[in-house]
Amino acid sequence: MKRFAKFWWDFIVGDDWRVAVGVLLAFGVTALLATTSVPAWWVLPLAVMALLGLFGAMFILWWWRREAGGARPGAQFCAKCGAAQAPGSRFCATCGAKVA
Ligand SMILES: [Zn+2]
Repeated sequence: MKRFAKFWWDFIVGDDWRVAVGVLLAFGVTALLATTSVPAWWVLPLAVMALLGLFGAMFILWWWRREAGGARPGAQFCAKCGAAQAPGSRFCATCGAKVA
């Protein structure tokens, strides 16, 4: 549940403000069409389906980015004692063994 809340936080106030604008636009168009003579019954289900697809894609993207950020490429571990090493280290800071 905490992850889900973080997703929405990232989603709404995150770096991609265009998505929030798009959501507002979709609701705006629906509300606008409802006030005119143009039949608007198809707009809401269409917008909901489009948004659900967008949300799904955004969630997958967010999840993928989060997973990719968790395991940083280039992280090194000592083969002898398993201690994490600073990037570029040639010798283990814990046991002094050569880091491959
Ligand atoms: Zn070591």
